[in-house]
Amino acid sequence: MKIPDYIADLKRYKPGKPIEELEREYGISGSIKLASNENPIGPSPKALDAIMSALKNLHRYPDGSNYHLTKRLAEKLKVSVNRIVLGNGSNEIIELLIRTFLREGDEVVIPEPSFLLYEIMVQAGGERPVKVALKERVLDLKGMAGGVSPRTRMIFVNNPNNPTGTIVSRDDFEEFLQQIPPEVIVVVDEAYIEFVRDSTCPTGLDYLDADKTVVTLRTFSKAYGLAGLRIGYGVMKESLADLMHRVRQPFNTNLLAQAGALAALDDDAFLEKTISTVHKGLDFLYREVEKLGLRYFPTQTNFFLIDLERDAKSVFEKMLRRGVIVRPMTAYGYPNYIRINVGLPEENQRLVEVLREVI
Ligand SMILES: *Cc1c(COP(=O)(O)O)cnc(C)c1O
Repeated sequence: MKIPDYIADLKRYKPGKPIEELEREYGISGSIKLASNENPIGPSPKALDAIMSALKNLHRYPDGSNYHLTKRLAEKLKVSVNRIVLGNGSNEIIELLIRTFLREGDEVVIPEPSFLLYEIMVQAGGERPVKVALKERVLDLKGMAGGVSPRTRMIFVNNPNNPTGTIVSRDDFEEFLQQIPPEVIVVVDEAYIEFVRDSTCPTGLDYLDADKTVVTLRTFSKAYGLAGLRIGYGVMKESLADLMHRVRQPFNTNLLAQAGALAALDDDAFLEKTISTVHKGLDFLYREVEKLGLRYFPTQTNFFLIDLERDAKSVFEKMLRRGVIVRPMTAYGYPNYIRINVGLPEENQRLVEVLREVI
């Protein structure tokens, strides 16, 4: 069998391990996970109710056109239904964008460090990632525009950026956009946009009608608390959405995900509670981490980086033994940093206590 080099060289994406697996490995129990940027308050109760009532229809295929969810999203976002493509998580939209619009050898500009999946998906398609280092933990949009060549077909802008939690400003984004040829697809991944407090943060949705090709990605996995359900979407020009609908699997979002997402979308109380829990938690954690004498980087998301000034992997191990799961940033090129996401108040408290013990 002849396997392409770019497939043979692929590295598996390493997600934060599920709690049960870690507890088994380390022989611990009652641990807390602050490693995958999940919603600390759980799923929306309205989504749970909707999923419960949808269960009895599981012998049926889902609605392949996703009629109700697409319609409600279109109303909320004030865009035409023909501009929305739903997927099995926004991760599937990333994959679909690459499969629909790119071919082997095309170049894709990717910030580094950023979401590791961009590079994996690009490599899996046989395209070439062109990585542009962040500047002071912020996307270097000038550098990224400079990385565009005649072979560039796509650029990823993660705003806010995972794992640094930083945003690019509207002014900087517009200046960047002006330099990008209209046929290059600018993918703005807004997985954490609901948590942003900085009013200078742009959204890709404002550039749908520009003479540029901007695709905005959103997800139900974070602020809407439905990471396990797997549903997200892209908003783009109709001509692009039409092609993606032809390429995608007809039932790429499942019956329960459609029902849960639709209910979560109108659960305003849940969304507000999530956002206020995250903001209060952040303000608490900033204060406490500062008291520990550690440097941290303020964020526009539900997670942030802490500089431990020592090997983060060994601190991560020690915290794990005490039942607190965080994410070491070694794979992202920050060997001394950990990334933590905001938990419930008692989880935040425990994180601080354990951090104090191990440093
Ligand atoms: C969590 C996250 C997503 C969400 O992916 P889903 O497939 O929708 O769960 C997308 N992009 C980034 C940068 C993320 O951190």
